[in-house]
Amino acid sequence: MKVTIVGAGNVGATCAQRIAEADIADVALIDIAEGLAAGKALDLTQAAPLVGHSRRIVGGEDYTLAEGSDVVVITAGLPRKPGMTRDDLLAANGKIITQIVTELKQTAPEAIYIMVANPLDVTTYIAHQVLGVPRERIMGMAGALDSVRFRAFIALELGCAPADVQAMVLGGHGDSMVPLPRYATAGGMAITELISSSRLDEIVERTRQGGTEIVSHLKTGGAFYAPAAGVAQMVGAIVRDEKRLMPASVLLRGEYGLDGVFVGVPVKLGASGVEEIIELELTEEELSALHDSAEHVRRTVIRWEEMQEA
Ligand code: NAD
Repeated sequence: MKVTIVGAGNVGATCAQRIAEADIADVALIDIAEGLAAGKALDLTQAAPLVGHSRRIVGGEDYTLAEGSDVVVITAGLPRKPGMTRDDLLAANGKIITQIVTELKQTAPEAIYIMVANPLDVTTYIAHQVLGVPRERIMGMAGALDSVRFRAFIALELGCAPADVQAMVLGGHGDSMVPLPRYATAGGMAITELISSSRLDEIVERTRQGGTEIVSHLKTGGAFYAPAAGVAQMVGAIVRDEKRLMPASVLLRGEYGLDGVFVGVPVKLGASGVEEIIELELTEEELSALHDSAEHVRRTVIRWEEMQEA
């Protein structure tokens, strides 16, 4: 199996490392910066004898490298700086994504696409518009990351093994995301039984601000270790046909009462991509938060379309 990663910056290169070192697939790295992808691919290749995998990792600027890809991950684009929202990246990243998917439409038309660049739900929409692939073959990675942040903070609170915590975050990838404490468990126990509701509110808020907290530490960019872990989980689910259940930003057509918008909901990921969209019975409050979040995404899409007309 072959995965192409466009953008060999912090997120892209870390994705390449995780995917090759976990023996998930061969990797082609593409970046506009001359020599960056080729250099990082070579560096990763040289680590292989020590790390113990036999994956082929190549890199360059040319989109022919993407030919024959089963999965394409797009991480190219500007990251946030302190004080910026993800939506502030819209004009720059919208243009970058349009240019990249126009190239990929020629060289990797059969691939399954995973978008990463922010604002996530809107770059996924833009890529879908250009690629015109069925909705099963294009999704955004955000819920996998937001959920893992929620899980990590719950594990810190309980002082328990992070792997024992399960939790889910729905909605758009931004301040309006919708963590669902009602569905979170630790060792099979409902966390609503283990953590007070006031403390849970604080954990939910820290999850919402999880990316911003890291940007404020790093100052020059955003998170990449956990985002790359989220991408590797999704890629693994697809190339190994694992039927994993996790949230992803997908095009809704009536599910959850939403239509024509990409937003994070639980899905089943396997060899065909998004094999199922799972519709949960949400409470009135949860559903209304999901609709507010989707409305925010929709307004950002309209802003993008207005920019194109201007
Ligand atoms: P980075 O600056 O380290 O890397 C971005 C790379 O994109 C650079 O190497 C740059 O040369 C490349 N690039 C720019 N324009 C390009 C083009 N036209 N063609 C090919 N490559 C191009 O940034 P990063 O930290 O890796 O973040 C990348 C993106 O991912 C950002 O938009 C960031 O906000 C987003 N992100 C999303 C999530 C998520 O949960 N969805 C998480 C983390 C980061």
